[in-house]
Amino acid sequence: MKPFTYLRAERPEEALAALTEHPRAQFLAGGTNLVDLMKLGVTAPPFLVDISRLPLDGIEETAEGGLRIGATARNTELAAHPGVRGRWTALSQALLAGASPQVRNTATTGGNLLQRTRCPYFQDTSKPCNKREPGTGCPAREGAHRDLAVLGHSTHCVATHPSDMAVALAAYDAEIHLLGPDGTRTVPITDFHRLPGDHPEDDTVIRSGELITAVVLPPPTPGTHSAYRKARDRASFAFALASVAAVLRVENGVVRDVALAFGGLAHKPWRAHTAESMLTGAPATEETFARAAEAELAAAEPLRDNAFKVSLARNLAVSVLNDLASRA
Ligand SMILES: Cc1cc2nc3c(=O)[nH]c(=O)nc-3n(C[C@H](O)[C@H](O)[C@H](O)COP(=O)(O)OP(=O)(O)OC[C@H]3O[C@@H](n4cnc5c(N)ncnc54)[C@H](O)[C@@H]3O)c2cc1C
Ligand code: SF4
Repeated sequence: MKPFTYLRAERPEEALAALTEHPRAQFLAGGTNLVDLMKLGVTAPPFLVDISRLPLDGIEETAEGGLRIGATARNTELAAHPGVRGRWTALSQALLAGASPQVRNTATTGGNLLQRTRCPYFQDTSKPCNKREPGTGCPAREGAHRDLAVLGHSTHCVATHPSDMAVALAAYDAEIHLLGPDGTRTVPITDFHRLPGDHPEDDTVIRSGELITAVVLPPPTPGTHSAYRKARDRASFAFALASVAAVLRVENGVVRDVALAFGGLAHKPWRAHTAESMLTGAPATEETFARAAEAELAAAEPLRDNAFKVSLARNLAVSVLNDLASRA
């Protein structure tokens, strides 16, 4: 590991000022991804601004009945929060499906959103990679890509976003609150992560020096149920091959409200707008769920070794929607 300067910030303004003064500095939250990448030589920030003790760890209900999750709230606390377990069940399930108890005790909400891809070439500095070093190429396209994207990829990058939590947040229409040198702004989570396009080095639309301060969830629509399901190679310590977060309200056998998001398939959580519009107002049957999932996944462009992800995602979506419909 290369030497670096360390500063523990006590206030958000202090953290922002340090990044303005040291443009190559990075925020350090739980460190469960950043420190690994530093050990691998993928990144070597000369200055780390520790934000893990900032007073941004609250999890509280908003005046409208939604939820404000502070950026430094730990994944364990968020998953165990009674309001989250009861009203945003898919979020709790997604967090518990990720990493291990030890990692979740340290990992934060902001860090989880900004964790980097686990594409093996990105993590191996002896290999070219457009995301790590723009312009060097994408060996994953023709190489080891079984775990990588089937939707929305580009000739420049076929990586997937690894976060489970972000997929649930996408189904709940969460908003990301940011504080930067130019003030505050809010970005819907579905616009926060990017598809790779010509610039796979940019995972998100966050600007240089910006700090995530909170994630805000709107109140759940009365009568909805939600769930998260993940398919992976092992029962723990494994990222999603495919995953689904779904929110559903069925009345008299008809779908009244639905939100569906896929994980493990793309460079960002994939909100399934095509499937949602087919499902709204349709009978809540296995056949309808299957047709809607297939219509969404018709956009898939699998690589040589990952076509299995398309049927896996379809089957996950159908089983989750069936389970939620049976609770109506
Ligand atoms: C063995 C292992 C298995 C894992 N398995 C899974 C899994 O199955 N599913 C899953 O979803 N995740 C998994 N993870 C990833 C884990 O959830 C992330 O590493 C973690 O959430 C990152 O949070 P952190 O606080 O440690 O971030 P850090 O490592 O501290 O930071 C990550 C990045 O975010 C930036 N950052 C952090 N907070 C902010 C902020 N508030 N504002 C602006 N920038 C910020 C940092 O500068 C850095 O670039 C796994 C991790 C490990 C080590
Ligand atoms: S898929 Fe993306 S992260 Fe992986 S090697 Fe290609 S450019 Fe790099």
